[in-house]
Amino acid sequence: MTEKMQVEAIQQGTVIDHIPAGQGIRILKRLHLEAAGNRITVGLNLPSKDMSLKDLIKVEGRMFTEDEAHQLALFAPEGTINVIDDYEVVNKFAMRLPETLEGVFSCPNSNCISLNEPVKSFFYIQPTATQVKMKCKYCEKSFNKEVVVAS
Ligand SMILES: [Zn+2]
Repeated sequence: MTEKMQVEAIQQGTVIDHIPAGQGIRILKRLHLEAAGNRITVGLNLPSKDMSLKDLIKVEGRMFTEDEAHQLALFAPEGTINVIDDYEVVNKFAMRLPETLEGVFSCPNSNCISLNEPVKSFFYIQPTATQVKMKCKYCEKSFNKEVVVAS
């Protein structure tokens, strides 16, 4: 089966591809996609050329913003976003980790001032060879991204 056959054509919207298996559901929850009323098709544990299994999300009638793509990169650093218009891929870009991320995830440090003050959370994203660290601007602690994303 070719990769193309896994993706039923949509007229207009976004296809998020090459999500590591297991992360698709988390992305749906994080972006509250289901609440927006768009038609969504989710493929879980699909075979992939470069990974053993992958998840895939199609959202009809919605173009993703660059900010949303940055959030997604934390879940799917190898992911790709395909923007579809009139059944054609009009734009395709790879996920890319942002250098900073503001107001998306809470600081896992329960003593952090950002939890009790009316400020937006702010993390510096620091990829290392083996993992991605997120350093809080306020308490200056570094966390594995998994810890931040899960909290
Ligand atoms: Zn903090």
